[in-house]
Amino acid sequence: MNHPAFTVYRAEGIGRPLIFDSPHSGVRYPDDFDHAPPRAVVRLAEDTHVARLYGGAPAFGATLIEAMFPRAYIDANRNVDEIDIGLLEDAWPGPVSASRKTQQGIGLVWRVARGGAPMYARKLTTNELRQRIEQWYLPYHAAIAGELNRMHARFGAVWHINCHSMPSIGDANADNPGRARADFVLGDRDGTTCAPEFTRAVADTLSAMGYRVAVNDPYKGVEIVRRYGRPREARHSLQIEVNRALYMDESTLVQNAGYAVLEQNLRRLMAALAAFVDAKL
Ligand SMILES: [Zn+2]
Repeated sequence: MNHPAFTVYRAEGIGRPLIFDSPHSGVRYPDDFDHAPPRAVVRLAEDTHVARLYGGAPAFGATLIEAMFPRAYIDANRNVDEIDIGLLEDAWPGPVSASRKTQQGIGLVWRVARGGAPMYARKLTTNELRQRIEQWYLPYHAAIAGELNRMHARFGAVWHINCHSMPSIGDANADNPGRARADFVLGDRDGTTCAPEFTRAVADTLSAMGYRVAVNDPYKGVEIVRRYGRPREARHSLQIEVNRALYMDESTLVQNAGYAVLEQNLRRLMAALAAFVDAKL
């Protein structure tokens, strides 16, 4: 299923209630994204290649949803009200919540690029912001909700992995700047967005491959797992952050020699999760 904002890759046949989404790997930069820093700097906000790393999902009966727009343009992993009013030339008519992310300049629409340079040499209009929400953000969320609801209606339960990548060293906006990251960080918002056994299944599978796995430290999961994870309704959402150094050069975004190994190991993870889901149904 194709839309300018997203692509959905479904399995043949009925498939499994196992859904992956990649909100930050989009590289279609819209013509009206007149960012001030060079594109190479703006692109450091991406989770480059993440959707492709999980591209094998349909072969395991799973669904993959890929955001096509860049995260720095509008960030699907923020609440729609995390609006930085300092970005706007006129007053935003809707609700605004001043979160820590908006104060850091990385709210719904980023005010600064990675490294702290201002993203724009001008103010944005409320009309531009409304268009970004309506044309990109909302359709992406509708795609996630639609796929989750479709599988939940059919199977009575759904398991969702929200896929990201993280810098190998925490950057200035991280909770622990300068600290080296594990290979994977799983986030279930301290056990509130999925059953603990789902987090444990992912952690155990990755650990058995030799990876260093952290849970909720320092990334607990953000808006997408918060919004869709309701374990009491058998809707399980877990965020997975993979260390970028495992698969690419972090400054050029070019895949490195580790890419193929990681891709293969993510296929093994998907196979294990398919078995996990089958055992639960
Ligand atoms: Zn991300």
